[in-house]
Parts: sequence; C-alpha cells; structure tokens
Amino acid sequence: MSLRRVVVVLLGLLLAVPFGVSHAKRMNFATIGTGGVTGVYYPTGGAISRMVNKKSDKYHLRLTVESTAGSVYNINAVISGQLEFGIAQSDRQYQAWCGLKEWKGRPQKKLRSIFSIHPEAVTLVASVKSGIKSVPDLKGKRVNLGNPGSGHLANARDVLKAFGIDEKRDIKAEYAKAVEAPQLLQDERIDAFFYTVGHPNGNIKEATSGRVKVRIVPIEGPPVEKLLQKYPYYAKAIIPVKFYPMAANKKDVPTIGVKATFVTSADVPEEWVYAIVKEVFDNFEEFKKLHPAYSTLTKKDMLKGLSAPLHPGAIKYYKETGLIKYVDPRLLDPNKGMPCP
Ligand code: GLU
Repeated sequence: MSLRRVVVVLLGLLLAVPFGVSHAKRMNFATIGTGGVTGVYYPTGGAISRMVNKKSDKYHLRLTVESTAGSVYNINAVISGQLEFGIAQSDRQYQAWCGLKEWKGRPQKKLRSIFSIHPEAVTLVASVKSGIKSVPDLKGKRVNLGNPGSGHLANARDVLKAFGIDEKRDIKAEYAKAVEAPQLLQDERIDAFFYTVGHPNGNIKEATSGRVKVRIVPIEGPPVEKLLQKYPYYAKAIIPVKFYPMAANKKDVPTIGVKATFVTSADVPEEWVYAIVKEVFDNFEEFKKLHPAYSTLTKKDMLKGLSAPLHPGAIKYYKETGLIKYVDPRLLDPNKGMPCP
C-alpha cells in the first residue's frame, strides 16, 4: 500500500470513529405484540422486556409491549413489519409457516421462531346454571368462541367440529375478545367461552370468582382422541383446579393444549434477537419467577414446539451455549423449517 493510501485509510478511520460512536449510541425501539391484558401473553411480553430493558444501554434496545387481538394478529403484524416481535400459539405458528387456516395458500416465509414459552390449555368455562358439563352440552347454548385475530378461535372450532357441532346451526356463537368474556359470563349474556391460555391467569380467575358459579369443562373422550391423531400440534393437558378455588370443579380438568411461542421476522436485526435470547436464557431462574405459568419451564423445552426456522440471532446464542444440540436441525435452515402437510 502506498503512503498516500495509508494516510487516506487512516483519515477515513479517524472520521468514521465519531460517526460510528454516535450511531451505536442511538437507542432502538421494538414492540412485542401480546394479547388481552388478563391473559398470559401480556405479562409475558412484560417479563421479556424487563429482562432486556435492564441492559438497554448495553444493547441500545428498548422493548415495549402492546396488547393485541392475539396470535394471528401478532404473526401478521410481525410479517408486515408493524411489530418486531410477537407471541403466538405453536399451532398458529405452524399454520402460518405452512400456509394453512387463515394463511391458506400463503405460507409465511419470513416468519422466524425464537423460542417457545409456557404451555397453553384449550380452556372451556361455563356457568353451572347452563348445565354444560361436557362439550356436547354446548348445543343450543350461547358460546363465545373468540375474536378474529386470536389464536383460540381455531381451537374452539376444532373442538366443536370434532364433536360434530355446527358453529352456525347448533350453537349461538359469539366472537368477543377473551378479555370481555368473564364479564359476559357473569352478566349471563353468554353460557360458556373458549380461551386457549396458560394457567393460572387473571381471566379465568375473574370468570370463576363472581356471583355466577362457574365450572371449567373437560374436553375429552373419543372425539378428542381422534383430534389428537389428526393434528400433531395438540397434546393432552390438565388444568390444575387449585389455581381457581372458586370454580365449581373438585378435580383437575383434562383438556388439550398447545404452547406459546415467541416469533419475529427474518427482517429483524440479529443483534436484537440475540440480546433477548441471551437475557432470558442467561438469567433463566429470574425470568421463571416472573409468572407462575412458567413454573415448569426448562431451557430444553423452550426449544420444542417450533415450526418456522429459527432466527439467526437465536441460532447464534444456542450455538454459543451448546443448547443447539436440543434444536431440531431442520429449524437451522431458513429454506426448510418443519415439514408441511
Ligand atoms: N392464546 C391466545 C391467543 O393466541 C392468547 C392467550 C394469552 O393472551 O395469554 O390469542
């Protein structure tokens, strides 16, 4: 290199430093899409932000939380770039990735997974007065299935279909947000509602603690066994009745469930995703204390239940820490992900 070129390069470096520094110091803001304020997604968004925002100066990243319509809304908002991060049910992540249900024929190739979080149970609650003790008893009743944009609307429909109940003909279906459902039940404007959610949560506490006596209804039997065979993303689940001492139930309630997952878009910078994964996993015991629904979480479990390829920022952390050995290798290839039907 000639002396002149050396001087030019050095000058360039000198000039670059102040710009580089001022650029690096700029704070970035990113938002996590969650769900209704009485669910578990909303406090989960809060828990994740809390871990990262303690170190905002280090990462130049501040996370904020938005209450939203739920899983489907969050996935769509992340893909369109309206939100940077979102929480979504594992079954909804799979459907978006594969182009099923709301995304029929439109696989969401930009969707990236980060980790999974707490288990969610398909929860059906009904007033005792309605006489609903099992899914077939829903016939002729006013049932809130969930709002468009929520994850649980499709779970409610899957359950009804499995039992041969027609949404239009056999029940009076409502499509209100989960956050409104406990009050509607207490006001006797509906007989029952579906909500796919982690336990314990404020929503089911509210629904079971009012004047109107409420029961959590089991979702079980041969139609459910068939459903489990048809859709691999459902698994058996139990709702511990100890969480809701005011409910009419005496025993834990069998049902089916999915998992909450944390998702983003391929367009979101690697450093942001890395910062989030590092703060949650490096301070795992502290994170677990932020919500009782996380009590059984393990790092290994948090790498299961994902369908969209992992974001490179997450892969970087899992490689660094050796956790990568628990990751399905198909999630490491952005062109692969989990196989679709
Ligand atoms: N699973 C629900 C949904 O996807 C949200 C549950 C929650 O907010 O905890 O819409």
